[in-house]
Amino acid sequence: MSGDNKKVRVRFAPSPTGRIHVGNIRTALFNWLFARHNDGEFMLRLDDTDAERSTEAFVHGIKDDLSWLGLSWDLEAKQSERYFDYEKAVRKLTEAGRLYPCYETPEELDLKRRRQLARGRPPVYDRSALHMSDEERTKYEEEGRRPHWRFKLNHELVTWNDLVRGETKIDAASFSDPVMIRQGGGYLYTLPSVVDDIDFEITHVIRGEDHVANTAAQIQLFEALDASAPMFGHHNLLVGVDGEALSKRKGSLSVATLREEGLEPLAINAHAATIGSSHPVAPYQAMKEIAGLFDFTKLSRAPARFDESELRHLNAKYLHEADFATVRERLEKNGITGGEPFWQAVRGNIDVLSDVEQWWRVVDGKIKPVIEDQDFCTKAQSLLPDGPFDEQSWSLWTSAVKEQTGAKGRALFMPLRKALTAKEHGPELKMLLPMMSRGKVSNRLLGRAA
Ligand code: GLU
Repeated sequence: MSGDNKKVRVRFAPSPTGRIHVGNIRTALFNWLFARHNDGEFMLRLDDTDAERSTEAFVHGIKDDLSWLGLSWDLEAKQSERYFDYEKAVRKLTEAGRLYPCYETPEELDLKRRRQLARGRPPVYDRSALHMSDEERTKYEEEGRRPHWRFKLNHELVTWNDLVRGETKIDAASFSDPVMIRQGGGYLYTLPSVVDDIDFEITHVIRGEDHVANTAAQIQLFEALDASAPMFGHHNLLVGVDGEALSKRKGSLSVATLREEGLEPLAINAHAATIGSSHPVAPYQAMKEIAGLFDFTKLSRAPARFDESELRHLNAKYLHEADFATVRERLEKNGITGGEPFWQAVRGNIDVLSDVEQWWRVVDGKIKPVIEDQDFCTKAQSLLPDGPFDEQSWSLWTSAVKEQTGAKGRALFMPLRKALTAKEHGPELKMLLPMMSRGKVSNRLLGRAA
């Protein structure tokens, strides 16, 4: 419950102009965890007021990404279906004198900004549209100009107690009055977001630090619409190892790509929940464990460093500890029927789940053995215990080979490993051997593909 006993309700509000990438995952996850932690609700809101860039395909893609990550939502809304409600807010603000039409072109605004800068002044909009006469307005309209609409900020200090940053103060006088409606009528995100947060009774707005300035304007919008503002929490943003923002690599770091590359949703979530915080990065095996960690005060104020190799490392660690039950269905769907013994044998040797395929081929498929000393391998073949093999077979066999050939250590094991698996490293042969047929092992030792 929030302070005033309202049920906690948060929202993740992506614009369907692209897929979700690592940067957005943290926002989605923090909201989701906060909702679960407080027995509240998590809403998916699609900010699709930009009709040109928003597509239905991205809506599906985003939903797919969230579902795959395990971030289920309890309710859903689309801004493009709520224009009626935004218009009501526009009327109210206009009547109160807080929304005003402006006719400057982008070029004129740019020129103003440059002049201000040249005079050493901050490039804040001078509100000249507020003093426009009726004749001027008519003249612009006759010229075919259409207005954009700005929200008149109250020039005062806006303060809030941020869930992450603590007491936050922003001087509204340091900003231009923000544009709410574009020339031609399209809504920018700022006003619809506030109307939605009011109508859907959002209790906490959790989003990236890049929205701090918006928050000051939005708090004034809540007031102007006679609503109380929700609580706000602005989390730190991700930067790459080079310290640069990740925006240029969004495509390669989309959830869809990470998924294609075989990363596990739980590893991604564990990574997203812990980087940039004082929580230890660990291969948490369940969302419950990750939810238990959730604490805004543990988030650092400095940007969080995203290193893809750390995520991959965590993914491998997660798989190394994963129970058979977590992967069973996916293995069986891919015809890997070695069950729990196979999983126990190979899980420590994979980075992504699809790596099991190569080991399944070793156990059940056909490979070309690597033989450097055929005599040695032929000798070893003659000493193979009777099949079927069991957990004792490997040590019985290698003891016999050692006794007969005098080979030991690496000289004993490496030729056998290469003959049986065609690789120099891999799972313990003691565990693989019982899953292989005697005929296959025998053939490989004799240098035949089997
Ligand atoms: N659509 C906005 C964004 O993606 C939402 C910001 C917010 O959470 O209010 O940045």
